[in-house]
Amino acid sequence: MNTASSRRTHTTSQRKNLPMCQHQPACPTADSADREAARLVAHHPEQGWSLLCNGVLLFEDTGELLPDGQIIAPHRPLSTTQVMTAA
Ligand SMILES: [Zn+2]
Repeated sequence: MNTASSRRTHTTSQRKNLPMCQHQPACPTADSADREAARLVAHHPEQGWSLLCNGVLLFEDTGELLPDGQIIAPHRPLSTTQVMTAA
């Protein structure tokens, strides 16, 4: 009698409206302060934005758009020289 089968019961019944994160360790959620540490799932440097695994849109100027529509203002000063059309 050596069948020690430890069966883990997964309770996946409670599901939030967030996409399932397949990463290990799991990415921080969009409402955590560490949200920018989530993995990139889409990167469009030519358009200036990236999509994180937790649904956060991260913009080139460090602004963010959360999945619930909340907008995070850019928190890094722009170092790129903006072209000013002063006439
Ligand atoms: Zn993830």
